[in-house]
Amino acid sequence: MKINEWNIDSLTGAYRKRSLSPVEVAKYCLSAIEKRGKDLNCFLQVREDAVLASAEDLEKKFNDKAKLPLYGVPIAIKDNFLVDGWQATAASKILQGYVSPYTATSVERLEAAGALIIGKTNLDEFAMGSSNENSAYGPVKNPWDTSRVPGGSSGGSAAAVAAHLCWGALGTDTGGSIRQPASLCGVVGLKPTYGRVSRYGVIAFASSLDQVGPFGRSVNDVARMMEAMAGYDRKDATSSRSVVPVYTESVARASAKNARFGVAKELLEGLDPEVRQSFDLLVQTMVANGAKVVDVSLPHSRYALSTYYLIAPSEASSNLARYDGIHYGYRSKGSRGELEQVYLKSRGEGFGPEVKLRIMLGTYALSAGYYDAYYGKANQVRQLISQDFVQAFEKCDCVLMPTSPSVAFKFGEKAADPLKMYASDVCTLPINLAGLPSVSVPSGLSSDKLPIGVQFVGRHFEEQRILDLAAAYEKLRGPFPIAPGVRE
Ligand code: GLN
Repeated sequence: MKINEWNIDSLTGAYRKRSLSPVEVAKYCLSAIEKRGKDLNCFLQVREDAVLASAEDLEKKFNDKAKLPLYGVPIAIKDNFLVDGWQATAASKILQGYVSPYTATSVERLEAAGALIIGKTNLDEFAMGSSNENSAYGPVKNPWDTSRVPGGSSGGSAAAVAAHLCWGALGTDTGGSIRQPASLCGVVGLKPTYGRVSRYGVIAFASSLDQVGPFGRSVNDVARMMEAMAGYDRKDATSSRSVVPVYTESVARASAKNARFGVAKELLEGLDPEVRQSFDLLVQTMVANGAKVVDVSLPHSRYALSTYYLIAPSEASSNLARYDGIHYGYRSKGSRGELEQVYLKSRGEGFGPEVKLRIMLGTYALSAGYYDAYYGKANQVRQLISQDFVQAFEKCDCVLMPTSPSVAFKFGEKAADPLKMYASDVCTLPINLAGLPSVSVPSGLSSDKLPIGVQFVGRHFEEQRILDLAAAYEKLRGPFPIAPGVRE
């Protein structure tokens, strides 16, 4: 097996035996990014000098640092996280040239655990999108089929992990942006409970929904990253003080025996037949291995799409007000210094069409006279969606559902029709609205050899349980195929 196929623990194990060094691995990643990453367009920034300098530093400090859990593990960061000295564009023209003055807590904690930051990944502008076609820097291609989208908004992170250009990546999930691209690219992606990982230093999209989470090639790799970055942060008022378990300890012993899974029939409508088949097969596998499956009902989830597309744009319209052409990044040259013109022209030229659409929708939904009917009402429905899950979890410990209604679609297939695009989030949105943790795991390949994913959804702060069950499934499923081109 080539180094790039090793998991995180094998990699750190080899470092500790001194049979491999972080500089060698950094060079491997840089050359793989050069060879494959350019074509996939999954990275927006790779600072070769900075990466090599960090790798050398790790080598020099071997005696102190080699025992760290992520020592020398190359990890890519979605470009809506701030990393001191690196650009942060959120894939928007309006942040072109903006260099972060400090580092996000999640990234800081990964680095403190020994991780090597390898680059910043492409995304949909301000994390708004499901296909990566909304990036101001061109779309990311899916490593399984480059005529197809990688999903969004964290498509760059998912593609980079699937193409073995790094060992893990960070993403954000506001409505599905970690799980849906993980599913479409055949990797594991975890959206933790709202408040589990600090959002400090992450460019805000919809603050009541945004959550940071890891991508990896296996559940154990994702659990390793979570251990390093989860937990209270005084710089994020919504971060939770609940204790962070050592996730990997229990993941290693995971079994499906006696687990109680809930399946909601409502959420199995309108799926691609192959997605449905893969889901049914997973359920059968779990039952054959001692799990119980019960019917649960999530009746209000059918309103999740309309609820989310009121709440998220409303909060985005408020968060994005700060990009005024003065404080950050891009300023229009045509504004001749008149204040109002600076605002209007910079925003007009700096934001892309989807972002403008959301700002307009959100501003309307929040405006006097409409607030109660839209944002207010949507928040009431959000409560009902949450309540359904509370009831479902009285009967089971984990709800199983598909991650995406379809496999990766072709470029342009949904881009012209926002409603079609929004519908690709139908399986992921209810979970964000309820603030629950969910991990997407590859469950099979379609007849076109495209990955399919299933998500394991848990109670608040029960990441451990869903990671265990996902790991148990992973063992039963066996090794997942590697994307074409990686082994060449
Ligand atoms: N696709 C959803 C949207 O466009 C979710 C995005 C996200 O989770 N960041 O809003």
